[in-house]
Amino acid sequence: MDLPKLAIAALGGTLSMQARHAGEGVIPTISGETLLASIPELTSLAHVTAETLGLLPSASLNFGCLLSVLSWAKYQVRQGAAGVVITQGTDTLEESAAFFDYLWDCDEPLVLTGAMRSAKQAGADGPANVLDACRVALSESSRRRGVQVVMNGQIHQARHVRKTDSLALQAFSSPVFGPTGLLMENHVHYFHPLVQRHALPLPQKTTHKVALLEASLSADTLLLENVVNLGYDGLVIAGFGAGHVSDRWATAIEIIAGKIPVVIATRTGSGATAQASYGFGGSEMDLIRKGALMAGFLCPRKARILLWLLIGCQRQDELANYLNHP
Ligand code: ASP
Repeated sequence: MDLPKLAIAALGGTLSMQARHAGEGVIPTISGETLLASIPELTSLAHVTAETLGLLPSASLNFGCLLSVLSWAKYQVRQGAAGVVITQGTDTLEESAAFFDYLWDCDEPLVLTGAMRSAKQAGADGPANVLDACRVALSESSRRRGVQVVMNGQIHQARHVRKTDSLALQAFSSPVFGPTGLLMENHVHYFHPLVQRHALPLPQKTTHKVALLEASLSADTLLLENVVNLGYDGLVIAGFGAGHVSDRWATAIEIIAGKIPVVIATRTGSGATAQASYGFGGSEMDLIRKGALMAGFLCPRKARILLWLLIGCQRQDELANYLNHP
């Protein structure tokens, strides 16, 4: 039988981690090639190749690495891969997924996965997650859906997925929207229909910086007031509730918004920012009047990625079109 081609890139993370000596903490050591050899079922699904593009904890990935991985993934598709799977640490997986999704212009699926248990831990979830991710990447029903995250038998859309538990096996969820699909008895099922996608152009510059600050009770304005002087090109605020800050922060934000784009998201972990509900100083209506944009359902971290990508391709003026409001 003519099997499809599938390419896997390993970047590191818990999935690749084991302890060198008993009693030591786990560190990334297991290559993509070794991981592949531990999942013999894959050989009946596809001609799979694995490359180790990095062995890092995911906190140490950066946009430069992700751009290289993206170009590697697009090359695999040009070489005939029916889909691409990327394994990485779960700590920043939601950010990588959004980053790739904004830039992925292929019909072929790009699927990210990781593990919550390290390679030698009892009940390690890495191999099962990789196998599921490959099934999703090879499924005809995944085409033209952009980037998916597959963890613990669920499929999540890159724009909605978040790591919502620090250590539990069921660490990923898509608040409000729910998973977009499931794997059941090794079959891929989607619940949500395809949506039209428009990829952004690749950033022409990568040295610009977007700050992310979280509003907190009784916070001073020192960092906020210095954001522009420090050379930041954009600012995202993880605001209270429906996208609110203190009156003092609102005053500082008005000055900043006259110079660089400012996006206000919610720090709650679920739900959208408001647009037209509250009128007090520091409310969403006040902040919009002062020149900020509301992130809608986009979480603060993904709003920062979007703003960084838009500035990188000189499309920051179109920011409002990309923020998803109810
Ligand atoms: N705990 C993390 C993981 O799940 C570590 C990392 O993100 O690299 O892989």
